[in-house]
Amino acid sequence: MKQPDNLQSGFSRWKRVSVIVSFLLTFALVGSFYGVQAQERSSDTPNFIIIFTDDQGYGDVGVYGHPTIKTPNLDRMAFEGQKWTNFYVAANVCTPSRAGLLTGRLPIRSGMCSDTRRVLFPDSDGGLPQNEVTIAETLKEQGYATAAIGKWHLGHLPQYLPTNQGFDTYYGIPYSNDMDLVTDKGYMDFWQQPIDSIVTENFNVPLMRDTSIIERPADQTTITKRYTQEAVRFISENKDKPFFIYLAHSLPHIPLFVSNDFKGISKRGLYGDVIEEIDWSVGEIMKTLKAEGVDQNTLVVFTSDNGPWLIFGENGGSAGLLYGGKGTSYEGGVREPAIFWWPGTIEPAVVSKMGSTLDLLPTLTQLAGGKLPEDREYDGYDLTPVLHGQDVTPREEMIYYHGTKIFAARKGDHKLYFYSNNPLGYPEKLEKLEKYKLYNLAIDPSEKEDIIDQHPEMVKEIEAMVAAHEKTVKPVESQLEKVIGQVEATGNK
Ligand code: MG
Repeated sequence: MKQPDNLQSGFSRWKRVSVIVSFLLTFALVGSFYGVQAQERSSDTPNFIIIFTDDQGYGDVGVYGHPTIKTPNLDRMAFEGQKWTNFYVAANVCTPSRAGLLTGRLPIRSGMCSDTRRVLFPDSDGGLPQNEVTIAETLKEQGYATAAIGKWHLGHLPQYLPTNQGFDTYYGIPYSNDMDLVTDKGYMDFWQQPIDSIVTENFNVPLMRDTSIIERPADQTTITKRYTQEAVRFISENKDKPFFIYLAHSLPHIPLFVSNDFKGISKRGLYGDVIEEIDWSVGEIMKTLKAEGVDQNTLVVFTSDNGPWLIFGENGGSAGLLYGGKGTSYEGGVREPAIFWWPGTIEPAVVSKMGSTLDLLPTLTQLAGGKLPEDREYDGYDLTPVLHGQDVTPREEMIYYHGTKIFAARKGDHKLYFYSNNPLGYPEKLEKLEKYKLYNLAIDPSEKEDIIDQHPEMVKEIEAMVAAHEKTVKPVESQLEKVIGQVEATGNK
């Protein structure tokens, strides 16, 4: 009697196993089918927009404390998203700052900094090397449509343009809007005249589409408007697939220009008018994302490339309560307003943890499901946990370069200075400090009280951190010191 039972139960067991196996197989097949479907569906992959202004200071946004410049759209972005108060750029001037943002690597690693030529100029023969991997390139691998709009300043020769660095399209002025100056005077003499007597024809800068010049001199009075129209069009045309827009405004870098609609609307003079037009532009982008139904699926980041250009007085911006400005690695030169907006995903908050434009490449690449190349050093971190509201940040330190020199370094709340400089940035007065200086930025954001004598242990900790960082830096050729017609370019110092 027992045998048939055993046979029966053996058969039943086999049947059960076979049912489970076929169920699992079916599940696996269906699952992989849906897995493939999910990857192809753009709604599962976020879009990214980085809005990057030029020379806008920490204090030049309403929600960052400016008393008269009105920025209702940026303020709304901040209230609905995250307002970061310890967010740093990779360098204190345009070219190296942009190289750091797009590569996730300090510019010392790519040769995009120098102690003799701080940025690229129209006579430059260098640019961001081809072997650097930009955000556009890591996202392109994940099937993104990519657009660079605005100021590039990473090389204006064909081999360095955005269309050779992972961007499908480019529209903008390839370097600073004050370059190609048409004048008999010296650069600083030119600026002695009243700002409203300066016209767009004084700057013979080109406007390019992809690799062709389409207008010269570029009409800068409508440039913010036209960059905005390009961005709006790109969103509408690419809303059904994942997209990345790098929108780098040419303004508020001097010379200042606005369209007629914004002339005289601010209580903060022409500089305020320019910021209010940029704020309008931010509002147009948010409006378009909502109208196209992709606002819940788009991360928008707003920040600036370096601090305010203080030597231009009321035509430069303000670093608010921070010390120093553009061209310095004091806080006012490198700490920037930074707003992250992604309705439905980002937890609204004021974030006082440290973050950096260096972190954008790792963060965006991770969110897109991509991977970083493993053959190089990165200086950026994935900030996704902070965006999701976790009270931790992977970034605990910041190394502040001035050209190729380490000017200062921050660990936690403490910042140690190895050099001093003219806080206005220009003329540069770089000096190695005989006695270093130490500040606690959490309680002394304006860097008023040197506390080095009270904290010798912090000096040791930060020095050890800098020494460890320096071991990872390999000398490379300086791209900024290559000049057209100059056969032998000087090396990186
Ligand atoms: Mg700048």
